[in-house]
Amino acid sequence: MYGRDRVLVTGGAGFVGSHLCERLLERGAEVVCVDNFFTGARGNLMPILDHPRFEVIRHDVTFPLYLEVDAIYNLACPASPVHYQHDPVQTTKTSVHGAINMLGLAKRTRAKILQASTSEVYGDPEVHPQPESYWGRVNPIGPRSCYDEGKRCAETLFFDYHRQHGLRIKVARIFNTYGPRMHPDDGRVVSNFIVQALRGAPLTIYGDGSQTRSFCYVDDLVDGLMRLMDSDDTVTGPVNLGNPGEFTMRQLAELVIELTGSASRITHLPLPQDDPRQRQPDIRQAGEKLGWAPTVPLREGLERTIAYFDALLGHERMAAE
Ligand code: NAD
Ligand code: UDP
Repeated sequence: MYGRDRVLVTGGAGFVGSHLCERLLERGAEVVCVDNFFTGARGNLMPILDHPRFEVIRHDVTFPLYLEVDAIYNLACPASPVHYQHDPVQTTKTSVHGAINMLGLAKRTRAKILQASTSEVYGDPEVHPQPESYWGRVNPIGPRSCYDEGKRCAETLFFDYHRQHGLRIKVARIFNTYGPRMHPDDGRVVSNFIVQALRGAPLTIYGDGSQTRSFCYVDDLVDGLMRLMDSDDTVTGPVNLGNPGEFTMRQLAELVIELTGSASRITHLPLPQDDPRQRQPDIRQAGEKLGWAPTVPLREGLERTIAYFDALLGHERMAAE
């Protein structure tokens, strides 16, 4: 669909964004990556930095941006609780001012715009699995609120720009996604467990480990995001994108220990405040409207991710010697 269309990816130097930039280049788009490198890294862009149709701009989306583009993927925002709670005011600004600035850009250029929203809009849900029609149960004043409420407000802005200005919008509610290029110190559970197992350190389960998450491999997610962007203008979302395979954190820890062959043990740390008890996407809409379903089971995705971290930590070990 894009041909030589110019596509902007905000947060393009991050984990998901770097995979997305790569896939868009593969299919012939001109790609502009905008990132302030808060959690992203130039290293994630190594395979494409010299690509003739690729450009990187260091910029913070809380400030206005003037570019000519045909489509915008708005991914800029730290996604790990550790990082989004580091400077919570900046997190809300990134979601809210960032959305306003990118929607303004879309309005001026008449570009299509996709928002990377999150399963966090459902908070600690009483409805299980979570369909898009569920309004969620979010604490508005807790430590996760800067992210959850910021993303909820961004969804509001997207739908108001759609209703008020006729913008072509797409809202994806992304469930826990993992894969190569997560930062080793990202702090999210999959990268934490893998890095701990490979270093022979104890795997840190928060709480008793009975809380659940549903993990989607990054290639599947990127495929879903691109299908959503390509869909008919009547498809605005919100659409859940995630893998319905649901696991407790204890099961995940045991699987990582098995697949790495590590001698690591499990240790328990306090459960963070407002940590959701359970999460599983209802993905019927993504199936019906986008013909999308995830294809990579957790075991296989973990094997690929472990291979990535094994190589990365191997280089670190060599550099230290
Ligand atoms: P990430 O932290 O690896 O990437 C986020 C990127 O945004 C980084 O490159 C960071 O430097 C950049 N960024 C942050 N603030 C910025 C700002 N003010 N201006 C410009 N750039 C900024 O996280 P990710 O996992 O790749 O997540 C990408 C997007 O997907 C985020 O919006 C996140 O909320 C959403 N999401 C991800 C998941 C997941 O499990 N990976 C789940 C739900 C939603
Ligand atoms: N978690 C854990 N050990 C870790 C990191 C996270 O047990 O080292 C738990 C965390 O408490 C949560 C789940 O794993 O219940 C997923 O956490 P993550 O930060 O990856 O994502 P989110 O809570 O935003 O879904």
